[in-house]
Amino acid sequence: MLKPEERKRAIVIGTGLMGPGIAYTLASAGWDVTLCARSESSLTKGLRSYQAAIDTLLQGGCISEPDAGTAHDKIAGTLDLEAAVSDADLVIESIAEDLDVKRTLFQRIEARCPSDTLLSSNTSGLPVGQLAAVLNKPGRFAVTHFWNPPHLMPLVEVVKGESTSQETVDTLVALLEQAGKKPVVVLKDTPGQLGNRLFHALLREAIWIVQEGIASAEDVDTAVKTSFGRRFPVYGLLEHQDVVGLDTVLAIQSYMCKALCNHTEAGMLLQNTVKSGGLGVKSGHGFYDWSKRDIETTVKQRDAFLIRMLKSETS
Ligand code: NAD
Repeated sequence: MLKPEERKRAIVIGTGLMGPGIAYTLASAGWDVTLCARSESSLTKGLRSYQAAIDTLLQGGCISEPDAGTAHDKIAGTLDLEAAVSDADLVIESIAEDLDVKRTLFQRIEARCPSDTLLSSNTSGLPVGQLAAVLNKPGRFAVTHFWNPPHLMPLVEVVKGESTSQETVDTLVALLEQAGKKPVVVLKDTPGQLGNRLFHALLREAIWIVQEGIASAEDVDTAVKTSFGRRFPVYGLLEHQDVVGLDTVLAIQSYMCKALCNHTEAGMLLQNTVKSGGLGVKSGHGFYDWSKRDIETTVKQRDAFLIRMLKSETS
């Protein structure tokens, strides 16, 4: 297998929310990247999003004009998947979250790519084993789960399936580090990988708190943003327990665990809100009334904060 420094040609498939930012990540590390779509309009949209990612980072002061120019020159677009993968060192798939659709795509890719091409999926939670099962060489396949927006979020979870070789994991980790990401290795092929398991454990409790009338949605978010959320960028959850003292943590957990929501279905409040048409921003209401809030301002504030974080980490 090629060493990470010898790998330089990547294909990213999917031009929706995630694909262009993933393409930027690889291009920023010096890779020649081809963004692959199914139609001209989708490719144009993807290349526009790719440029928007560069512009956001440039305007935010995270990259220089020459870096932006290099990233601009490193991208190409194509509708011809078979030709694109025929000399690829790495293929990252980021299309619809559908097992059969992804498996069909990987069969097409494997039929045409070189025998040592690394293959990965950006799936949010489909099992590595089930995706890799259609491949003749499943050892070269792993999940690389980027976080949204991929050009601003450092974490990438590299998920190892039973058939994934250690060499594949090591190579992906090394190349993601070269691209300035913070990869973590998820050693078991488990639903929700790592980050989403943590996130949904917290989300289940947050929904339960609102459902039970313990606090409003807004106060739940305020509590997250102004307490432990504020420490998280520099101070880990488990690190904090060691600082507190594990005897104290054990005493708290001994009564607290019994009181936490342990339902195995999605929260009733969530189910009922969706049933009554509350889909969040896209329908105008969800946990919040979005007719009274401005989504563009919310996203701008989020991105401005992520850019400040990114700058502080790279400076
Ligand atoms: P999206 O719906 O925005 O984009 C999907 C893209 O894939 C579209 O451009 C669509 O035209 C294309 N596509 C669909 N089927 C295809 C096929 N058979 N061949 C080629 N292209 C096809 O989706 P997204 O949010 O970018 O998510 C992509 C993947 O990333 C999913 O697996 C998703 O679970 C995962 N993911 C999403 C997020 C997120 O926050 N959106 C975060 C992490 C991972």
